[in-house]
Amino acid sequence: MIAVYPGSFDPVTSGHLDIIVRAAKLYDSLIVVVAQNGAKQAAFTAEERVSLLEKSVAAQGLKNVSVACISSGLLVDYTDNLGAGVIVRGLRAVSDFEYEFQRALTNRHLRPSIETVFLMTSAEHLFLSSSIVKELARLHGKIDGLVPAAVVDDVRAKFLIPNE
Ligand code: ADP
Repeated sequence: MIAVYPGSFDPVTSGHLDIIVRAAKLYDSLIVVVAQNGAKQAAFTAEERVSLLEKSVAAQGLKNVSVACISSGLLVDYTDNLGAGVIVRGLRAVSDFEYEFQRALTNRHLRPSIETVFLMTSAEHLFLSSSIVKELARLHGKIDGLVPAAVVDDVRAKFLIPNE
């Protein structure tokens, strides 16, 4: 079974990577899809987000994970075209639930054959989001541990955080 894990990943966090590692064990193949959400003003370009994900995945030695990018069209169409039957999403707190529920039901309405599967966050990533990482980085706060080790330097460079 092929699964897709879509998101903004602006940038990838340790919480995202945790979901990727766990989902990769559940499916034969996992395709992480960087979605270019027009409504969200991204700090990183789509190419940068893909590259950070690729580095993070490579550092984990995950052979069945690849990274792609979707710039237009419906996620369910994209998922279908890849021959995937599952959309993976991560859930943190109750605050994620309503949004995720709405998306999952909309996607099911559009394509009943595709299941959305939720993986619960690990406790240490409960409060971690790309937004928090960006907020911290803009203030030159310490982001070690919040983003995958393989990309800490890239994220620091983006926000011009000087080396310690
Ligand atoms: P989107 O903009 O589509 O919500 P994100 O990049 O913010 O994309 O998140 C992608 C997915 O990863 C979402 O399902 C989100 O709930 C999940 N996610 C984000 N941060 C974490 C985390 N710390 N732990 C578990 N799942 C997470």
